[in-house]
Amino acid sequence: MVGLMAYPIRHSMSPTMHNNSFAKLGLNGAYLCFEIGNDKLEGAVNAIRTLDMRGSNVSMPNKKEVIKYLDKLSPASKMCDAVNTIVNDHGTLTGYTTDGIGFVQSLKDEGISIKNKVMTLAGAGGAATPIAVQSALDGVKEIKIFNIKDDKWAQAEKNVKTIKENTDCKVSLTDLADQDAFKKAIAESDIYCDATGVGMKPLEDKTLVSDPSWFHKDMVVFDTVYAPRTTKLMKVAQKAGVKHVFDGIGIMIEQGAASFKLWTGKICQLITFVRLCF
Ligand code: NAD
Repeated sequence: MVGLMAYPIRHSMSPTMHNNSFAKLGLNGAYLCFEIGNDKLEGAVNAIRTLDMRGSNVSMPNKKEVIKYLDKLSPASKMCDAVNTIVNDHGTLTGYTTDGIGFVQSLKDEGISIKNKVMTLAGAGGAATPIAVQSALDGVKEIKIFNIKDDKWAQAEKNVKTIKENTDCKVSLTDLADQDAFKKAIAESDIYCDATGVGMKPLEDKTLVSDPSWFHKDMVVFDTVYAPRTTKLMKVAQKAGVKHVFDGIGIMIEQGAASFKLWTGKICQLITFVRLCF
């Protein structure tokens, strides 16, 4: 048995994805959602040991809070200070973060390697942090982070410090208000990734880049939003003739596939299954 501990969580596609993968691979497994907030988290994590569960996914508001109840952390989890997957090895609980793996793998699925590439990344929150960390760990040459001066600015500074201390990746942080720097960074990049959520409700008709001339045809434009399937940013990139324009579905699928592999050691069929659903 594996779980998903978050609040609220009734909307989640994860049980459908994982239970179908168990069935398809002939594994005797079950994936269940538990509506758990910070208040019940300690008991819920202890139950993983008590019930001898294989592990659990963890989502908001528990991704940081859960760390204090675990025995070990993966290097990426340590750097992100967040966990979305717990693996139980005979009572020892290890925390992992698979969102960044999902980003890197979803590009690999499209035949794109991030190695030695230059990336401009908008955002420093729950999605952007693992994307930056995993990309740096997996060989991106440079990350130019842009963020607004809101409550996530400190996290953006922390991300820069952590990446500098733990990887060879060159990394910088610039205020998104500096639009000349933002435009220049995108022009110099192989990958532009927007991990801000601008483009989904309530900002569905908004984009951080509205001028197609900022993009060049050979680059990758990636929006972590997956509803709507085609965001305003993606439309601008398509108008610019950008060859590789992606939404966030690939991350959603591949972060799940990475968790599934951590629990079972097996590659599952989530990709085919989820692509059929959307
Ligand atoms: P978050 O609140 O943790 O971070 C949001 C980031 O965007 C912050 O850096 C914030 O400073 C910045 N931001 C907020 N409003 C902005 C604005 N108006 N202009 C510019 N920057 C702004 O959110 P999150 O959890 O990181 O989610 C971000 C997006 O990523 C959402 O669309 C979410 O659905 C998506 N996401 C996708 C996946 C996936 O599997 N595809 C996984 C996680 C998150």
